Amino acid sequence: MYGKIKDHLQKEIAGIKEAGLYKNERIITTPQKADISVSTGENVLNFCANNYLGLSNHPRLVEAAKRGLDSHGYGMSSVRFICGTQDVHKTLEEKISKFFGTEDTILYAACFDANGGVFEPLLTAEDAIISDSLNHASIIDGVRLCKAQRYRYANADMTDLKEKLKEAQAQRFRIIVTDGVFSMDGNVAPMDKIIELAEKYDAMVMVDECHSAGVVGKTGRGVTELFDIRGKVDIITGTLGKAFGGAIGGFTTGKKEIIEMLRQRSRPYLFSNSIPPSIASAGIEMFEMMAETADLQDKLHENTKYFVKKILAAGFDIKPTKSAICAVMLYDAKLSQEMAANLLNEGVYVIGFYFPVVPKDQARIRVQLSAGHERVHLDKCIAAFTKVGKELGVLK
Ligand SMILES: *Cc1c(COP(=O)(O)O)cnc(C)c1O
Repeated sequence: MYGKIKDHLQKEIAGIKEAGLYKNERIITTPQKADISVSTGENVLNFCANNYLGLSNHPRLVEAAKRGLDSHGYGMSSVRFICGTQDVHKTLEEKISKFFGTEDTILYAACFDANGGVFEPLLTAEDAIISDSLNHASIIDGVRLCKAQRYRYANADMTDLKEKLKEAQAQRFRIIVTDGVFSMDGNVAPMDKIIELAEKYDAMVMVDECHSAGVVGKTGRGVTELFDIRGKVDIITGTLGKAFGGAIGGFTTGKKEIIEMLRQRSRPYLFSNSIPPSIASAGIEMFEMMAETADLQDKLHENTKYFVKKILAAGFDIKPTKSAICAVMLYDAKLSQEMAANLLNEGVYVIGFYFPVVPKDQARIRVQLSAGHERVHLDKCIAAFTKVGKELGVLK
């Protein structure tokens, strides 16, 4: 009978609303890009998408998806190992391996699935997973699905990681797991030091490159390029849903025996549908674009540098960033919401984050830069921040 749980859910939802944690969705009526329209009529500049390279509506990807639809159809109606593997899926996997300089790649419906299905096939109760405390929810869930011993170290804290590695020496295999770029601060995991500790304490290394692939490193190859550690990371997971076009799809890339085992045993791969041919086709085109030039990375890095310089000059306090994420610190939850609302009135769409998404008294507005932004967009954003910042007393 539904009645009892219905009452319970209504109360819970009311509680979420009272706590000010209820999530409303703003409705966009245009394709995803730098300047968008929303259903309430406003035209706004978008500074809260993961569209780091501005590819979400790129004509080459739209065309490639259409071609894929024509040549390979709409859907696969199958998991990969039954009858859900087309040439485009294999080609996309090869392109991803080539991009990262890895041995092999396996596709998933999303990186949430890649992370959810990576640990359980490889590790048992005899082994240890040593995970950064700020890792993405999907890594946390993946770890939960695996019987390995769990260790958690403070965000990017190498002293703490070393302690945990020492404790984990009793186990058979060890793996250190970290996000490449942490999404709330925009900081990069200290991969050079992590690799050093991994070598010293005999551990594998896994990096989730969702916010770093396509973004960091001179040509966007991610943290292994940024730290010059190609071949030293055993497992990389990533998404096609952010910088790489923003549609859908995830992947795990790395050592060939690991990928081979995941194809045999990874549950989200074995028991969930193949990505659509149009998405695979556009993905192939996207990696071809990446192989041709790093112009988009150059533009993204320029835009980020410019924004950071200007927002600091305006008098704002930001978290040091090594990515395309710039956290403008306000330290007050209510203020972060007012600031975001007023910025929207000025035509700038950003989100204010506060506890429990970020630590108490660390409320902020997260700005996400893109190669899709032009200088006029950045200037308009800075001007709006400055105006609203003065109105709300954030700036003197
Ligand atoms: C976005 C994100 C994911 C999930 O990726 P999807 O492909 O959208 O499922 C996983 N890990 C991190 C770090 C992310 O930022």
